[in-house]
Amino acid sequence: MVSNAKLRRWAIAFIFGLSLVIVAGEILVEKIAIFGFHDIIDIDNPQKQLPRRPEFSADYSIDKFEDFLRQLVERHYWFLSSNDLYNYYYKQPAAPLPEIYKYRPKVMITIDDGYRDAHLNVLPLLERLYRETGEKITVVWFVNSSFMGVPGTYLDHASCEELREGVIRGYYDIQSHGANHDNLTLISEEDVEKEVGRSQQELRDCLADLEGDESIANHISYPFGAINKNALEIVETYHESGYLYNTRSLRLTPFRDRYFIPRQTVNRNTSVGRLLRLAAGGWF
Ligand SMILES: [Zn+2]
Repeated sequence: MVSNAKLRRWAIAFIFGLSLVIVAGEILVEKIAIFGFHDIIDIDNPQKQLPRRPEFSADYSIDKFEDFLRQLVERHYWFLSSNDLYNYYYKQPAAPLPEIYKYRPKVMITIDDGYRDAHLNVLPLLERLYRETGEKITVVWFVNSSFMGVPGTYLDHASCEELREGVIRGYYDIQSHGANHDNLTLISEEDVEKEVGRSQQELRDCLADLEGDESIANHISYPFGAINKNALEIVETYHESGYLYNTRSLRLTPFRDRYFIPRQTVNRNTSVGRLLRLAAGGWF
């Protein structure tokens, strides 16, 4: 007979051992933080404040965004494009990492929904940072193709011409966020097909004839971060990978799935310090 005291000791030893394995795994597994921004605005501008413009929790201040990017540049981060992430971390067999990037920490900056203010604030900032630091930062835009150039109820959307400008200058990587921002898990398969296919085609038409146009809309971020089995079967016929919005960093384990790429959420209260800690692989 094994005594209760002995059983308890074994249970404690087992839980302790398991925790050690989990903690060691977390520390040893390399992580890449992919940040999901939305509108990026000058929060101090009265035109961008209540009552002229409603506040959205996903807004982020351009000043904090600049501070974040500057500190990433100082720490020699490599700003991955969506095709970089796919080619080096998901494709089978994966392309070997270029020697110049191998030992640099990695990060990805994504902006969803294609808001015009975000474009008007971010593009000049990227040019200024390039002039000052020599670092040409890539920003991945997940765009709703049907909204390009369309004034919203509150927020306007960047036009095809404006997004083209960012691509021509070498800073924007344009990918899909569906045509109309429909939740792919709540519409018919026929409509998923239309949302996904149309968006890819419209984005490719918008950016046709530009250098690197073969990299346009190969990837999608799911509107509302929502995807299910039926929608995924259709997505897979158009896109090489898909992005969630789930407050997680990408862990480079062999089990990663190219249609469930995690992203860190960002909202107006997220501090630059927290973004930097997440970029460095921290949990909080
Ligand atoms: Zn969205």
